[in-house]
Amino acid sequence: MDICIIGLGAIGSFVAEGLAKERHTLTLVDRDYVEQKNLLNQHYAVSDIGKTKAGASAERLSKLTNVVALPIELTPETVVKIGNQDLVLGLTDNLYSRLVINDYAKKKGVKWLSGAASKSQGMIYATIEGYPCYCCIFGSKSGLGCDIGISDGFGKRFSGEILEEIKAMGSQNYTPELVTCTMASSQRVKVSHSHTCSACKGTYIYLNTPVFVQELCGKGVFQFRVPGLYQKIEGKRFPGVVHTGKAVVFEDGRVMVKARTREEAEEIIRSL
Ligand SMILES: [Zn+2]
Repeated sequence: MDICIIGLGAIGSFVAEGLAKERHTLTLVDRDYVEQKNLLNQHYAVSDIGKTKAGASAERLSKLTNVVALPIELTPETVVKIGNQDLVLGLTDNLYSRLVINDYAKKKGVKWLSGAASKSQGMIYATIEGYPCYCCIFGSKSGLGCDIGISDGFGKRFSGEILEEIKAMGSQNYTPELVTCTMASSQRVKVSHSHTCSACKGTYIYLNTPVFVQELCGKGVFQFRVPGLYQKIEGKRFPGVVHTGKAVVFEDGRVMVKARTREEAEEIIRSL
């Protein structure tokens, strides 16, 4: 199958490995770069530090299968870049991106599976045409918050459950159910359509709301768009990303800075 994986952190980096071993063709999407702290519970090596997560994963997995790396942020504008896929996996750390994926997948009629976890509990749900969608279940949640980090070891266990669910999706009598996993067990519950779900009515509200400046999940990191900065800025360069010490600048125009407030972040951007 052609599978696109969005989010290559504590869950996605292991799921990507599993799917590459099964020789699926992969498109890997992640907006982030590898940091020292990621080595604890994500599938990266010391030599990957500083590289984009998409690039580092593609480098490792291209020995097993065909891989395309997309070190981009998934937004309503960029989601079209994932191209034609048999299955899309939304394994990011925030609800907003999963709702964007849901809108896009519903509009295109492509199957997608969400895997989200906080601490040592995770939820899996596959959205398939004709059944309730992800937005039917989670669209009415208040705010578009971030998931809290994942406990050590849980990402690996949870990614195993996701791989099992992907296999199950291939069977003819598969019915999507909400799967809740803990370290020790997993449970399945039937879900029903929501009468207030916009995506099921063909209105894609998350695809129609662009995002420019935002505070990212992961506490105190702000993201801006400064087109052209990547080409001229000096710093430690890896394919698609430059580290300046104050900021991390991506080829697609994004700049990430660590700051306490948005004003402080803007000050840093001006000083680059
Ligand atoms: Zn729906």
